[in-house]
Amino acid sequence: MSLVVQKFGGSSVADAASVKRVAKRIASYRKAGHDVVVVVSAMGDQTDDLIDLAQEVSPVPPPRELDMLLTAGERISMAVLAMAIANLGESAQSFTGSQAGVITDESHGRARIIDVTPGRIRSALDDGHVAIVAGFQGVSQTTKNITTLGRGGSDTTAVALAAALDADVCEIYSDVDGVFTADPRIVPSARKIDKIGYEEMMEMAASGAKILMLRCVEYARRSGVPIHVRSSFSKHSGTWVTDGEIPEPFRTASTKDSTMEQPIISGVAHDRSEAKLTIVGVPDVPGKAAEIFSIISEQEINIDMIVQNISTRDPGRTDISFTLPMTDGAKAIEALESRKDSIGFDHIRYDDQIGKLSVVGDGMRSNPGVTATLFRALSDEHVNIDLISTSEIRISVVTRAEDLDRAVTAAHSAYGLDSDETQAIVYGGTGR
Ligand code: ASP
Ligand code: MG
Repeated sequence: MSLVVQKFGGSSVADAASVKRVAKRIASYRKAGHDVVVVVSAMGDQTDDLIDLAQEVSPVPPPRELDMLLTAGERISMAVLAMAIANLGESAQSFTGSQAGVITDESHGRARIIDVTPGRIRSALDDGHVAIVAGFQGVSQTTKNITTLGRGGSDTTAVALAAALDADVCEIYSDVDGVFTADPRIVPSARKIDKIGYEEMMEMAASGAKILMLRCVEYARRSGVPIHVRSSFSKHSGTWVTDGEIPEPFRTASTKDSTMEQPIISGVAHDRSEAKLTIVGVPDVPGKAAEIFSIISEQEINIDMIVQNISTRDPGRTDISFTLPMTDGAKAIEALESRKDSIGFDHIRYDDQIGKLSVVGDGMRSNPGVTATLFRALSDEHVNIDLISTSEIRISVVTRAEDLDRAVTAAHSAYGLDSDETQAIVYGGTGR
């Protein structure tokens, strides 16, 4: 008998009809003899609605109270789902994150899971229940306050529980059939990836592929939990994220042959949420980069690519450019301007009309020419490259925002990733 953790996102439980559909699916797993732990997100866009409500009564809601409010979304879906399962003749019990033993640090709005003690979940399973757990939340070990894990955090709850319970698989259900070689809304010929390693999936997630949260993949890699990303609207096999074999009871004919050939490039990700900031005329002396990036890190801003060049204005000076989330742009400029005299730079240029394209593939380690193929494809499309950065298994370039779709399409074809048939179906919802 196997233990399966199943996570259903907001669009899979958006209304009563969806909850009933998901309940049927869970009941059929139960009838097939699996132990099932379910992690749910709030119904539909309820988390956003609750944030709007909070904002209406207070422009800066106290973080403790905001977490208390937001966790209510998942409490609703867990209880409703347990009722729907009971209505099908299977017994189910719902648990808040705190009851399920999800222990976090004390930070509100983006708490980190530090331990999972799922004693009550184990007993519920032993007593023959389906255990339903509210995603995205936990309880602080020190303050005993209720915390949330950050937007999209239910994926992390699911993987953490799967790890703590030593589950055979963590299934993440959403409204698409899996991870695709590119976003099907941009590249209709994108194909579903049958299997991908943790490191590649982490690079895809960090490069803008929104299907899985980066933290959840990191967690899965550390604990070795296989993830199966699939649609709750179809019975198709989705994408397996694992470095090992697909566990025996879950192997199908299609997943068996897919382990045969591993493409050099697994996928092309893109990101439209970043901006480029250039500090022009920084004195070319030791310590200036340290000063600049300390200021940025004090603001808790995550930067991505960094490029330093001889200044366009003066050879004794350099220009330092980096990319950062667009939402942090104003904060970064303000912090740097306030230390302008001490750093000694001339001025700041800010550009949020950029796009980032990344190609990811384990095969890059051993195949020369991967970079040349990308640059050739972009040049054939007359796409100008602004910044470049690489890791062992990723190449990222910054382009103009308006060139990004063409660039993604061209790169996808250049690596032979196009499929003859349309594979991607978006079944519903507004994303996750
Ligand atoms: N409901 C939360 C959100 O919308 C958590 C999640 O969906 O995973 O961010
Ligand atoms: Mg959601």
